[in-house]
Amino acid sequence: MLQLKNPALLRQACYIAGQWVGADEGETVPVTDPATGETIASVPRCGAAETRRAIEAADRALPAWRETTAAERAKVLRRWFELMMANQEDLARLMTAEQGKPLAEARGEIAYAAAFIEWFAEEGKRAYGEVVPSPLAGTRIVVTREPVGVCAAVTPWNFPAAMITRKAGPALAAGCTMVVKPAEQTPLSALALAVLAEEAGVPAGVFSVITGKASAIGGEFTANPTVRKLTFTGSTEVGRLLMELCAPTIKKLSLELGGNAPFIVFDDADLDAAVAGAIASKYRNTGQTCVCSNRLLVQAGVYDAFAEKLAAAVAKLKVGNGFDDGVTQGPLIDEAALAKVEELVGDALAKGARVVAGGKRHALGGTWYEPSILAEVTPAMRVAKEEIFGPVAPLFRFDTEEEAIRLANDTEFGLAAYFYSRDIGRVWRVSGKLEYGMVGINTGLISTEVAPFGGIKQSGLGREGSSHGIDEYLETKYLAMGGL
Ligand code: ADP
Repeated sequence: MLQLKNPALLRQACYIAGQWVGADEGETVPVTDPATGETIASVPRCGAAETRRAIEAADRALPAWRETTAAERAKVLRRWFELMMANQEDLARLMTAEQGKPLAEARGEIAYAAAFIEWFAEEGKRAYGEVVPSPLAGTRIVVTREPVGVCAAVTPWNFPAAMITRKAGPALAAGCTMVVKPAEQTPLSALALAVLAEEAGVPAGVFSVITGKASAIGGEFTANPTVRKLTFTGSTEVGRLLMELCAPTIKKLSLELGGNAPFIVFDDADLDAAVAGAIASKYRNTGQTCVCSNRLLVQAGVYDAFAEKLAAAVAKLKVGNGFDDGVTQGPLIDEAALAKVEELVGDALAKGARVVAGGKRHALGGTWYEPSILAEVTPAMRVAKEEIFGPVAPLFRFDTEEEAIRLANDTEFGLAAYFYSRDIGRVWRVSGKLEYGMVGINTGLISTEVAPFGGIKQSGLGREGSSHGIDEYLETKYLAMGGL
């Protein structure tokens, strides 16, 4: 059984309108530990009716919350941040239990998640308006920023805490209220955040968490005219569907969707640094992040040396249960994820790729896959187009800078890209030509609460984090004042 210092953080009820409640029909869904397959808890299986009540509560809570000052909201958010950090170990343990990531990574995610709450508590105070010099005498033009209103959030399982706080932080700081539907695989982290929000003094209805049937909850979120904004992180496929469902009520949208990140290693790169960056960007969370490098493009002159060094680094990764000391590679989230990775590797091998490391299920069984490297991968293989979401690094070979850029941009996605080069001219040239929302230059880690995270093309709409993140939750109002 999962041991927590504060057992009250493990909730098996939804938090709606400030109450801990079950589903109307009493139905539940089990939450399993991907490392052991054991059921660790069960949560309510709610549908449209419960969702409607959560939205109505968010609507009732809105007038008072938006009227509080930004400084008052900041105090509440600051307490929420502090409670998250005070409970970091328990929150991390809950996350490893339901998601599988190594405990050290889970602790890191809690700190990262909390940082969004702290950051936006401050940013809320700086939602400045404007006074525009008017072209007409006796008039004034004033621009104000107002909260969008009731927001709904749908979040994924790969970052069970951070994908919630980077939506709820700016929403609440801006004066909006929010209902969150976490992924069915990882509801416990979301419910624990609600426990701490309540303790921090977030008023009833301002932040609700509802678990259950994705399509029923999503259907209500998108159809209900009270919801003015939908924010989603997940697959491009579901994002596209939610966008369509939001069309009839013209909701504001933020979408953080899939990626197909290129990781380019040029001949002039510091190869050891590139290997370290590739390990961080490819194998973090066992390859299950939307900014994980999906295609390693390596210039011909350093291809073999890079492959060799990367293989040596991959051999040091430790596969196992995320709770065990020193483990860096947890299991994949479920059987479907494992099957997809196997299928993509099978396709690459059938079309002529070569295994440099791994290439098969891990001896531990379950949903573990060996940290893998494939060489001689070509654009004809499925890994070139599809998100792997697993610990497999496909190495593509290129000769010229132009070819690298062409290959890198040859995808409908545009989330994150990475490249390694010591040539300052090349750094500027390539940065400018990569069609991506984020570019890591000589680094494999780009996520921070202070920078704008988001993609272009079919990777999404809008930005999260940074001073831009709060704009997504603010409407611009223009006051034309005459007769002065
Ligand atoms: P992943 O591949 O990461 O599981 P998904 O896009 O399937 O990505 O899931 C991300 C989130 O979207 C999860 O919370 C999931 O429950 C939710 N989701 C999936 N299908 C729907 C739907 N039809 N309506 C609303 N939410 C959905």
